[in-house]
Amino acid sequence: WRDALSALSLLIAGYSTYRYYRSLSESTIPPVKKGVEELIGNTPLVLIKSLSNATGCRVYAKMELCNPAGSAKDRVAYNVIQTAEKTGQLVRGEPGWVFEGTSGSTGISVAMLCNALGYKAHISLPDDTSSEKLALLESLGAVVNKVKPASIVDPDQYVNAAKKSAEAMVSKGIRGVFADQFENEANWRIHYEATGPEIYRQTGGELDLFIAGCGTGGTITGVSKYLKENMKTQPHVVLADPQGSGFYNRINYGVMYDNAEKEGTRRRHQVDTIVEGIGLNRITRNFKLGETYIDESIRVTDEQAIKMAKFLTVNDGLFVGSSTAINAVAAVKMARRTSTGSKIVIIACDAGSRHLSKFWKEAKNVDCNITLDQVIGE
Ligand code: PMP
Repeated sequence: WRDALSALSLLIAGYSTYRYYRSLSESTIPPVKKGVEELIGNTPLVLIKSLSNATGCRVYAKMELCNPAGSAKDRVAYNVIQTAEKTGQLVRGEPGWVFEGTSGSTGISVAMLCNALGYKAHISLPDDTSSEKLALLESLGAVVNKVKPASIVDPDQYVNAAKKSAEAMVSKGIRGVFADQFENEANWRIHYEATGPEIYRQTGGELDLFIAGCGTGGTITGVSKYLKENMKTQPHVVLADPQGSGFYNRINYGVMYDNAEKEGTRRRHQVDTIVEGIGLNRITRNFKLGETYIDESIRVTDEQAIKMAKFLTVNDGLFVGSSTAINAVAAVKMARRTSTGSKIVIIACDAGSRHLSKFWKEAKNVDCNITLDQVIGE
């Protein structure tokens, strides 16, 4: 009878496995997309188990690194292009250029989308930009204009250089648009129209804390404006700021400059940190429009970010870039101050693969057995 019983249980197990996979294929079969642009957005929320178990809060990552070109900037680049198409600066099916000054992810998103939509990308960047980003832009076929690193007030600084290139092209009667992610409101608007509502739906409209860094300010402005206006309980919004950046003092104490430096006088507007994409000593339109939604800022050191990146990789399989690590450190600091069970969402902006030559060169040497207390070190 034992044989009969085990044969029966095998049969039942086999049948339920069959039923499970059938229901999966019926309900979750991914839709067919008409182009890579349709892969943008609707990024998942992932529970970060290690941080949640250690803090007693529920810490989730909004996986912007799942966008097709690997970062939240896909949303921005697409909205910039769609807005330019509405105003007639670009016409789908006809030649046109998108110009941008960027040392970061935006250029990669612009380059990918230009290929997908039939335009050409022209990216101005400082000549000390990391080798993997340069290689990516070149692989994507963008025209790359390398300029000497300079302050934003210098007419040859890379953002100004991109603007000049766009103006020169348009003055010749060729279609083109300057993406201008720092000042262009298509940036924060897409986070208000898409990223924010996604987080609302994914959390059931209930969230205690939202944490993001600030580069252009588009993400934190768009998402926090939406969440503050719509969530059942208004979440506390935290700007996670790397060392050397002025946002921390601006938000917490109303003064912008760390070292009494004047706006824009830095060699580049990226401040003195290993972290890329966030931290600025300059007030951009996309930041200014969202400033009042930010409740406080948490400062995170490079050392904490480097250790956190390794911690998330070995404990959760989350291989993230530097700004995501900054957000995760801020989440732990906040979680330790808030009540057990609080729900926290951080932005996971991009993956570690884009930071191999700089940030991960340090992070890879961190001991795999590092504890969360050693990561935070306070
Ligand atoms: N993380 C990374 C890796 C980025 O490239 C950026 C944008 N520069 C940010 C975070 C910050 O996003 P935002 O520009 O919307 O403030």
